[in-house]
Amino acid sequence: MTELLWLLLPVAAASGWWAARRAGEHQSSATARSAGYFKGLNLLIEDQPDQAIEVFTRMADVDRDTAEIHLALGNLFRRRGEVDRAIHIHSSLIARPRLASSQRRRAMLELGEDYLRAGLFDRAEALFRELLDQPAHTQTALARLIHIFQQEKEWRQAIAYSDRLERISGEYRGRQIAHFCCELAEEALARSEDADARSWLSDALTRDPGCTRANLLLGQLAMRAGDYPQAIAAFQAVERQDPGYFPEVIAPLSECYRILGRLDEWSAHLRQIQRQQHGGRVTDALADWLLRYEGEDAALQFLEGELREHPTLLGLRRLVEIKLERGEGAEYADLHALHCISTQMLNSAARYRCDHCGLIVKSLHWCCPGCQQWAAIKPLPDLVMKTGV
Ligand SMILES: [Zn+2]
Repeated sequence: MTELLWLLLPVAAASGWWAARRAGEHQSSATARSAGYFKGLNLLIEDQPDQAIEVFTRMADVDRDTAEIHLALGNLFRRRGEVDRAIHIHSSLIARPRLASSQRRRAMLELGEDYLRAGLFDRAEALFRELLDQPAHTQTALARLIHIFQQEKEWRQAIAYSDRLERISGEYRGRQIAHFCCELAEEALARSEDADARSWLSDALTRDPGCTRANLLLGQLAMRAGDYPQAIAAFQAVERQDPGYFPEVIAPLSECYRILGRLDEWSAHLRQIQRQQHGGRVTDALADWLLRYEGEDAALQFLEGELREHPTLLGLRRLVEIKLERGEGAEYADLHALHCISTQMLNSAARYRCDHCGLIVKSLHWCCPGCQQWAAIKPLPDLVMKTGV
């Protein structure tokens, strides 16, 4: 309700300006118009937004010359989710033969936003392309076209237009462009065109040397080629770029060290990380290593000491699992129940959180589904319940 009121204040302001400008010529119609706006505002204040919108709509229909009012109303409808009405208002405005060119361009921009909201990307793209040569709207049109290319997975176009926007605005866009390169690399990987994928990943790291995703993919490429030392180098580069992504490289690093027979090195590395992070995933990985190579007692001793200082859900479940394996007499039924509960909790828990909007999700998205930021979603040190954050 308050939002609606603020949205319509420009409408009221436009009315005042319009009325003042033409006061000498059409005093009586301006007075009637002002009365209408105040009636509309009163309805808003009385929390009757639908009736208020009807009043404003009737007034806009009567006053064919008031383009500003139509623009404001169209935006209002779009914000309320009434996209068809917004499209109708903005299309009608553009169709007017005597509309000022600056207002026509603004109406085109708004109509493009309407089409975007309606998912009509082809129509939106055509409108934004028309606006590219208008200096006042070039940056906005480029940004919206980049958004469309992302939705349509037209990554080459997204890169080309991002480069253009970076040149015009002077604003660094390398982080985003690096992810477009990674998207192309993943497509090449899916086609088994490894050389092409490697080239895109090199491009990604040139654009953004901090791009962890590029090194993760380079590690996967190296593993696929059987070059495990190279894979280890790539995964360790991820750690250096952002230690928060270490949980993502635990499994592949463990695999590489195992194949190369360098398990002591892996164990030493895990212990070093565990002393710094104490997260559930690192604890679980170290317990797993101890269980495999040093036995149950070593794993239990480590977990009991670690969980006392740094309790984690993953660590707890691992502890219970080991005790269940041992089948510890009368405690068995209790342990089984505890294992079921912790597994259920873990199955519905989230592993990642967006640094930008706080969204928590179960799998890694490189582009946040909540705020559309790239590389903002990071692994959580331990799993958390989705309602817990
Ligand atoms: Zn987000």
